[in-house]
Amino acid sequence: MQPFTMIDFPGRLASVLFLQGCNLRCRFCYNGTLLPGTAREHITWEAVINFLKDRQGFVEGVVFSGGEPCMQPGLLDAMHEVRELGYEIALHTNGFYPDVVEKAIEQRLLQFIAVDYKAPLARYGEITGQSASEKSFGRVAELIVASGIRHEYRTTFHPRLISEKELMIMADWLVDKKISSFALQKFKHGGAYDASLPPVIGPWILNTTLLKLKSRFASFTLRSDGNTDLQQIAA
Ligand code: SF4
Repeated sequence: MQPFTMIDFPGRLASVLFLQGCNLRCRFCYNGTLLPGTAREHITWEAVINFLKDRQGFVEGVVFSGGEPCMQPGLLDAMHEVRELGYEIALHTNGFYPDVVEKAIEQRLLQFIAVDYKAPLARYGEITGQSASEKSFGRVAELIVASGIRHEYRTTFHPRLISEKELMIMADWLVDKKISSFALQKFKHGGAYDASLPPVIGPWILNTTLLKLKSRFASFTLRSDGNTDLQQIAA
C-alpha cells in the first residue's frame, strides 16, 4: 500500500492498493514480487479500511492497482466498501478482464480507469507471456468510451521491445477505438522482470514520433525521468 500519490489518480490525492497476482509476465514489469500472488509483505483488508477511515476528508481517492486487480474475486465488494467511505476509485488494469470492468462500470464504482497497452496485440505473447484477444481488449476500450469515465491508456516503451512504427500502429488502434488519453512511459531500469533488458540511455524516441502522438490524442502525457527537451516537445 502506498499512503499518498498525486500521480496515479490524476487530479486527486489518493492512496494506492497493490493487489498481488497477475496473469501476465511483462518483460519490463518492475512489480515482480507481486506477480506470483505470494508476496511476503501484505496487510489485512481490515487494516486498509481502518487506514482509510482515518484519512476521510483528507485523501480523496483510492487506486486499485497491482499486479492485476481484476483477478481478485473480492474486488467489486472491496470497491463498494471504499465508495461507502466516500472515496473516489481508480482502477489500473491490463485489460484482460472485460467482464470485471463491465460490472465495475455498471455498478458505478469507477471514477478513473488506466489500461496498460503493452505491445501490438499480435506481439503480446512475446512481450507479456500471454497472447491477447483483440475482441476482448477492444471490448474494454468500448466499455470505457461508452461509459464516459475518465481514462488513460498507457504504454511502457523500450526500443528493444517495440519499434516507434509499432507504437504508432498502437496509437492508431486507440484512436480508432475513440480513446482520448494516452501516456507514454520510458522503461525504468532496475528490478525489471526480464533482468536482461538493458537500461534505456540517451535519445530514446524521435521528436517526430512524440509530435505525432501528441496530435492524435486530446490528452497526451510523457513520463520520461525529467528529460526536459522531450517534455517540452510533449507539452
Ligand atoms: S506490468 Fe505486466 S506483469 Fe507486471 S503487474 Fe502489470 S500486467 Fe502484470
